[in-house]
Amino acid sequence: MRDHLKRIPKSVKRFVSEQALLPRLRSACDQMIEVLYPRQALDTDPDVINFAAPPRTVQATGLSAGAWSSIRFLSDEGCAMCARPFEGGLYMGPDALCTFCSQTPFPFKHTRAACLYDEASRGLILAFKHADRLDLRPVLLGWLSRAGNDLLSQADIVVPVPLHPSRLFERRFNQAAELARPLARQHKRDYSADALRRIRPTHKQLSQARTAKGRMADRMANVKDAFALSEAGERRLKGRHVLLIDDVFTSGATLSACAEALLKGGVRRVDCLVLARAATQTAPL
Ligand SMILES: [Zn+2]
Repeated sequence: MRDHLKRIPKSVKRFVSEQALLPRLRSACDQMIEVLYPRQALDTDPDVINFAAPPRTVQATGLSAGAWSSIRFLSDEGCAMCARPFEGGLYMGPDALCTFCSQTPFPFKHTRAACLYDEASRGLILAFKHADRLDLRPVLLGWLSRAGNDLLSQADIVVPVPLHPSRLFERRFNQAAELARPLARQHKRDYSADALRRIRPTHKQLSQARTAKGRMADRMANVKDAFALSEAGERRLKGRHVLLIDDVFTSGATLSACAEALLKGGVRRVDCLVLARAATQTAPL
């Protein structure tokens, strides 16, 4: 890297520093992002007041108290394996599985999701994921910490779902790693960002299949063999209990592919902790 920098002509270096091009470019990008995702426009219902909502935290998210109170926090009420809430919000016990997981279990053992991925939470999560709203991180970490407290206390090491280097370059940060690293530190767990790698890029997961089974099969095929452990990762994770961190659990295909790669590399057990669980339907009992 230092050699590459040396090869840049001095006149170019001077021009860049004198004109302060990089900060200007960065500022223009920030302004564009602010227009696309304005901080105070994550919801459109600013008049509803819920006096029970924590005001500072609400203020930090850019949500009104009303929008905050409509976020559905999940904790451990849903399926133990995929975190999908049961019909009617019933609590069926800590190890209850939904019909889907009973019939076709995922390779990971447990999942906890902080909230449901729906109209109320989507704006906040997308702002964190795509609009550099790293200022939301303390609030989201609080949610994850609460929802995943038991899994965090059991795990040996925390691992984020990796991005492919091309996507990382495009997005500039891995949102899962931005959550996983401080979470591991808070809960005094080991952390590894590079043990698990995404070895090929995957497409945006849009399936044309008409049935849920068909859509799931398409998503699984899209991420099959997309992840692998590095040699150092295998040495580091062998025989250990890994907690995988991601932002949204949609079909579970990505987390499954990660878990399969981890187990293939000798990991003893995998659990998952996500910000939100996308579930268009509740799980039948
Ligand atoms: Zn399930």
